[in-house]
Amino acid sequence: MSEIIARPFPVINQFYAPYYRGLKERKILIQCCTACGHIQWPPRDLCFECHANQLSWTEVPQVGKIYTYSVYYRAFHPWFKQHLPMAAVVADLGEGVRILGNFLGNVEEIVCEKEVKAVFEDVNDEITLLHWEKA
Ligand SMILES: [Zn+2]
Repeated sequence: MSEIIARPFPVINQFYAPYYRGLKERKILIQCCTACGHIQWPPRDLCFECHANQLSWTEVPQVGKIYTYSVYYRAFHPWFKQHLPMAAVVADLGEGVRILGNFLGNVEEIVCEKEVKAVFEDVNDEITLLHWEKA
């Protein structure tokens, strides 16, 4: 008898809620400081540059280049065993914005600086995940 293992999902707190709402609409949203214009990721309650707390959200491109990556041959959660080997890539979208996501495709084809594009996966009514694949 096989045990059913539930897929783990990210915890969506107050800082990440706008980001996940954006993913539902097929947009990648990151914080933008309305005082100095600095854009930042990950989201926080203050601007990394000027420490203002007036932050809005702005859309960023859905293509980037692989900045770095990690290939997993062991599952860090039992649900991921069926997807091994898998990889997480950090996509550099320019202007200092780098966003992590799982890589869809053959992990042997991952090379730093290679172009990737966003893929949105609706996993339930509340959560859409951002992944990356070859552009
Ligand atoms: Zn600022």
